[in-house]
Amino acid sequence: MPERASGAPLERQAGDSADPADRPDPGVGATPSSSAPVSPVADTVSPPDDEEAGERRAAAVRRIAALFATDGPLAQRLPGFRARSQQTEMALAVAETLADGGTLVAEAGTGTGKTYAYLAPALLRGGKVLVSTATKTLQDQIFSRDLPQLVAAMQMPAAIALLKGRGNYLCHLHLERTEADPRALASREEVVHLGHIRKFAKRTRTGDIAELAEVPDNASIWGKVTSTRDNCLGTECGFYRDCHVVKARKAAMEAEVVVVNHALFLADLALRGEGIAELLPRADCVIFDEAHQLPTVATRFLGESVSTHQMLELARDSLNTGLAQARESADWVALAQPLEQAARELRLACAAIERMPGQKSAFEALPDPEAFDAAILAALEAAGTLGKVVAAVRERHPDFELLARRAAELFGRLLRWAPEAQPVPPAPPAVEGPSAWDDDGAGDALDGDSADERTAAHHDAEQLSLPGAPVRRKPRAAAADSEDDADWVRWIETTTHHVRLQAAPLSVAKAFSRHRPEGQAWILTSATLAVRTDFSHFTRQLGLWEARTGQWESPFDYPNCGMLFVPQGIPAPDRPEFTQAFVDTLVPLIEANQGSALILCTTLRAVDTVHRLLSAVFAERGWKWPLLRQGERTRRELLETLRTGNHAVLVGSASFWEGIDVPGDALTLVAIDKLPFAPPDDPVIDARIKESRKRGGNPFFEFQLPQAAIALKQGAGRLIRRESDWGVLMVADRRLVEKPYGKLLWRGLPPFARSRNREDVVAFLRERRGR
Ligand code: SF4
Repeated sequence: MPERASGAPLERQAGDSADPADRPDPGVGATPSSSAPVSPVADTVSPPDDEEAGERRAAAVRRIAALFATDGPLAQRLPGFRARSQQTEMALAVAETLADGGTLVAEAGTGTGKTYAYLAPALLRGGKVLVSTATKTLQDQIFSRDLPQLVAAMQMPAAIALLKGRGNYLCHLHLERTEADPRALASREEVVHLGHIRKFAKRTRTGDIAELAEVPDNASIWGKVTSTRDNCLGTECGFYRDCHVVKARKAAMEAEVVVVNHALFLADLALRGEGIAELLPRADCVIFDEAHQLPTVATRFLGESVSTHQMLELARDSLNTGLAQARESADWVALAQPLEQAARELRLACAAIERMPGQKSAFEALPDPEAFDAAILAALEAAGTLGKVVAAVRERHPDFELLARRAAELFGRLLRWAPEAQPVPPAPPAVEGPSAWDDDGAGDALDGDSADERTAAHHDAEQLSLPGAPVRRKPRAAAADSEDDADWVRWIETTTHHVRLQAAPLSVAKAFSRHRPEGQAWILTSATLAVRTDFSHFTRQLGLWEARTGQWESPFDYPNCGMLFVPQGIPAPDRPEFTQAFVDTLVPLIEANQGSALILCTTLRAVDTVHRLLSAVFAERGWKWPLLRQGERTRRELLETLRTGNHAVLVGSASFWEGIDVPGDALTLVAIDKLPFAPPDDPVIDARIKESRKRGGNPFFEFQLPQAAIALKQGAGRLIRRESDWGVLMVADRRLVEKPYGKLLWRGLPPFARSRNREDVVAFLRERRGR
C-alpha cells in the first residue's frame, strides 16, 4: 500500500480538481516574473476556455499565493520556512503548466526552495504525479522528508510511494538460495553482511536495502540477494505474494504521488520503446528535479550494452541450474566452459584499452580488431549452443526458461558486434518471456558509490531487449555509412574485471518525448539548466522545442558572502608547471581558511598529483586537518568526513562536482583547477563533435562551451548552501578571464565579489575565520 502522508484531512476544493481547465490567472504570475529573464513560449499558455475556467485559475493562484505568504500555512507550520518571492513565483508558473499540460523548464538558484515550489502546486492540483530525481539519496529525501512535511503543513493528505529499480529490494528467493548454497559466499565480509541481511529480512516492511546501514550499498553481497530481470521468476515464484518488488510497484500504482529516479524513468521509456509492458504508472504530470542530468542518463539508458560480466553470469547460472535440476540431460560443465573462455578472450582482446584515456576505445579505433572479432564469434557460438540446450529442457524448471531467454538476448546483443564478412553461428531459439516481468531492474546508477560491478550487472540487465527482437549485424567498416546507424556511437570500455560493449544514440531529442501521453504536464527543474539566460542547449538535447522557460535567482547575498578568485599570473592550464602552481597558490588559502576545503579537479590524474603535493605540504607544516582523496573511501564516507571532520580537505574529480551539500563552516573554500570541458577523447563527445562539424556547425559553441558553463556552475554551487554560508571560490584557469568566451562562463556564476589578488582573498578568509 502507498503511504498516507497526512495532516488533518482536508477536502480538495472545487478549484483543486485535476481538471486541466483549472489554471491560475495568467495575469497574476502565470509567467514567471522574477528579476531574471524569462522566456515564455506562448503556445503552451492558452487563455481560459470560459469564465468558469478563469475563475478556477484565479482561485488556484490565490491559494498558492496564500500558501507561500509570509504569514501563510507554510510559514506557520514548517520550521525554518521563510517566504521568498522567487519561490512563490516559481510555484505559480508550475501551477499554470500543470493546468495546461505543457512543459516548463525552470532554473531555480540555490536557496529558492524549488522542491516546495513544485510539490505544493502538484498536491493542490491533484491527479497522479511522478516526481523523478537524480539519485536514491535525493529520492529518499523527497519521500521521507520534503513530501511528508509539506503534506502536513498543507493539511492535505496524499498517498505517496517510493519506487526504485528492482536491484534496490531484497529478494526472498535469492536470499534463500544464497543461504542454502555453501559456495555462494566469496569472503568473510560477505558472511558478516549476510548475517545482517538475515535479520533485516525479518524486520523490513519495504525490503529497501538502503534501510540497512550496516551493509554498504556497493557491497558485493547485494548482487546475491536481490533480483534482476534475468533471474526473477515472476508469478512462478513461491514468494510472489510477499515480494518487495511487487509490493513497491503495487503501492506506486495506487499512490497519488510517486517518487522515482531518472534511471527508472528512462528504463521505463526504453522498455516502452521496445513495446514492452510499462514499468511506471501513467501520470497526469511528471516533475524532473535535477533535470540537468537527464541528457546524460537518457543517452545511457536509450542505448544498449553487453558485457563479459553477463557472459560469465549466464555461464555460471546455467552450470548451477543444470547440475541442480537436470544433471543427466547434458554435460553442463562442457556447455558453460566455452562461454567463460570467450569472455576471457574478449577481455584479453581489449586489454590494451585499459591504458587508453578513460579506459575507453571507439569501436573504429579498437587496438586489436582481429582478436576482438574472433572472441565475439566464439561467444556467439557458445551462447548459441548453450541457449539451444537450456531451451530444450525448459519444461523442467522455471529457471531454464529464464536462462534460455538470457542466452537468446545475449546472442542478439553480441551479434551487433560481429564482423559482417564472416559467417556467424546459428542463433538459439527465441523464447517468449513472462510479459508481466519484462521490466527494468534499474538500480540507481547515479549515486557516486554505485559504479561497481553490481550496478554494472543491473544496468546490463535493464538494457537487455526482448528475445526475438530483431537483431542486425552492424559491421565496423560500414557503421558510418548506414543511414540508420549514423546516429549511433559505439565504444568499448573496460572496468577492473570486465569489458563492456556500449552503443548510444548521438541525440536523444526524439526518443525522450516519444512516449509522452497527450496532455501530460512536464516540469524540468534544476539549479543549472541555462547558460546565462539561454536554455537552448538543454532544451535542444531533450527535444523540448515547445517548452516555456523561467529563471529564479537565488535569494542569497552573494556579493557579500562570497568571493571569486582567479589568480593573477598563474600559468596556462596546459603548461607542465600548472598543477604545482595551482597547489602553491592554494596553500595559503587553505592555511587562512584552516582547511575546510573542496578541491575539484578535471581529471583523476590531477586528483592524484594535487593530493600528493598537498600531502607533502601538510606533512611539512604539521597540519592535522584530514586530507582526503577521491577513491580512498566511499563517496558517502568522504562526504561525511568533510561535513563533520574537523576542517577536512577533500580532493575529487567528476562525481564531486555536484550533489554535495555541506553547509556551514565545514566547507568555505572551493578550488577548481581547470575549466570543466568534457574530454574530447570520450567516444560520445568525439562522435558529437564530428557530427556537428559534418553539418557545418561549431561544436565548441554548440555544446562544449555550454556544457562547461553548466558544469562550472554546478561546481561553484557547492560553496554557498544556506543563507548564512560564506566562502571563496577559486578558479585557477586564467581562460576564465582572458579568453573572450570566458565572460559567458563567469557571468553564469553567482555574483560574488571578484579578485585576482591572493592577498585580498587570504585577508577575506582570515577575517571571516576571526583570525
Ligand atoms: S518474484 Fe522475483 S523479486 Fe520477487 S521474490 Fe520472487 S524472484 Fe525475488
